[in-house]
Amino acid sequence: MAKKLLVIISILFLSGLGYRAVRPDMSGAPPYGEAEDAVPEVNFLNWLSQWKRPEGPAKVGLQVGHYKNNEFPEELEHLRGNSGAKGGGKMEWEVNLAIAEKTAEILKEAGVKVDILPATVPPSYWADAFIAIHADGSDDKTKSGFKIAGPWRDLTGDADKLIDYLTDSYYSQVGLPWDDNITANMRGYYAFSWWRHEHAIHPMTTAAIVETGFLTNANDREILLKSPELPAQALAEGIIKYLQSEGLI
Ligand SMILES: [Zn+2]
Repeated sequence: MAKKLLVIISILFLSGLGYRAVRPDMSGAPPYGEAEDAVPEVNFLNWLSQWKRPEGPAKVGLQVGHYKNNEFPEELEHLRGNSGAKGGGKMEWEVNLAIAEKTAEILKEAGVKVDILPATVPPSYWADAFIAIHADGSDDKTKSGFKIAGPWRDLTGDADKLIDYLTDSYYSQVGLPWDDNITANMRGYYAFSWWRHEHAIHPMTTAAIVETGFLTNANDREILLKSPELPAQALAEGIIKYLQSEGLI
C-alpha cells in the first residue's frame, strides 16, 4: 500500500508537478511553507535513482499471451474469458507457447536466464527484458503483418531500443510486413500497468509486446504454425542484441 502511494506521488514528481512545487519562487510564495525537514525523505525520484539491478545473469521474461488465462487473479478477472485469436485449428496461446519455448532455447544457449510466464505475471515481476508474445486475429482475412510496441510510459528509458532491435530482426528474418496499426491495447497492456495491478511488471523492467502475425491470414498462419522457429529466432536475436547493448551478455 505504502509502495503504491509512493508510486502515485512519484508519477506526480515525474510529470513535473513536484518539480514546480519545490522550485524556489521568485515572486514570494504564500506563507506557512513546509520546512525542508518536514518533507518525507523518500520520494519516487530517490527510489528510482537508487534502484539497482539485482545481481545475476541477464534475465528475460517471455510471456505467453493468453496462456492459462483461466488462472487470472481477481484483479484481472475481467480478462479470464479472453482467449485471443484462433486459426488453423489452433488457439492463440498454443502458437504463442511454441514460439516462446523456441525463443527460450536460443536465449538459454546464449547464457540468458529465461522465465516462460503465463498470462498472469508474478507480482512486480522484474527482468532485464519482458516480451509479451501474441498473435493477431481479424475478420478481414487479408490483414497481415507484425507489430511491436512498448508501454505508454517507460521508466527504464530502454523500451524503444529493445523495440528497435526486435523490429529490425523480425522484419529482416521472418518476411512479414510491418503492420503500423499499434493499438492502445498494446501500449496499455495490462501486464505493463504496475501502478494499477499487483500482477504486472516492475517499473524497472524494460518491456515490449509483440504481435507476431495474423492467425486469420493464410500466409502469416503458415509461418506461425509451420515454422515457429523463424519468429523465435528473430525474437531471440533482437533480445540478444539488446542485452549486448546493455553490457549484460
Ligand atoms: Zn493475444
